[in-house]
Amino acid sequence: MTQLFDSHAHVDGPEFEADRDAVMTRAREAGVTRMVVIGAVGDPSSAERAVAFAERDPNVWATVATHPHDVEKMTDEWWATHERLARHPRVVAIGETGLDYYYDHSPRDLQKQAFRRFLELAHAVGKPVVCHIRDAHEDARAILREGRAADLGCVIHCFTGTPDDAREYAAMGCYVSFSGIVTYKTAQPLRDAVPLVPHDRILIETDCPYLAPVPMRGKRNEPAFVRHTAEVVAQCAGLDFADLARITTENANRVYRLANG
Ligand SMILES: [Zn+2]
Ligand SMILES: [Zn+2]
Repeated sequence: MTQLFDSHAHVDGPEFEADRDAVMTRAREAGVTRMVVIGAVGDPSSAERAVAFAERDPNVWATVATHPHDVEKMTDEWWATHERLARHPRVVAIGETGLDYYYDHSPRDLQKQAFRRFLELAHAVGKPVVCHIRDAHEDARAILREGRAADLGCVIHCFTGTPDDAREYAAMGCYVSFSGIVTYKTAQPLRDAVPLVPHDRILIETDCPYLAPVPMRGKRNEPAFVRHTAEVVAQCAGLDFADLARITTENANRVYRLANG
């Protein structure tokens, strides 16, 4: 059976509290054999939950950080928790960190400061970085270059930039991850971006519970639905579904430094 890797899921969250086991079963039935759970929403209890989840399931790995939306609230204690968890063997990346100038929930200077500090943490523990960048691509690329992110391995998750942005990230050596947005009627620029990313730099993700792909749009998203995103990305990349699934799984294994399963 075709194997898929959901490179970015928030299944640790309260949206899945009631039926998490059923969600995981549906994922396996849909061929989603591996996933990375992002422990970065709100306070560091998200990171703790993601790590605990990854400890229980051998096909789940975790990331830890604080989302750019929430960095304004960060305390020394939050940093200490991330610095401790970052070294955990089931933690495969630091993230999601980055810049979000669309919502501006935290002041931009604090977002930049935290982004730089998370890049330093990634270097300290020798792990890649998962980046959330919205309407801030120029500043992000400057920080990523300065922070030698390509040396770490760098994922631009839920990519929403222009085709030129995709090309520039790929030229820097970053991985570009496409979410369910790529299936939306209005998202032609994203579909145009796919063929500009070399095959060995493409990832797919749900970012669930948000952004369910067509034909599930409007529902709670879950890892099983990454298949619909994979179908559209395969078409745009000029690949068979099976090749796209294999290549994106290999890419996720490479950037997160996992043995091919
Ligand atoms: Zn994000
Ligand atoms: Zn996310």
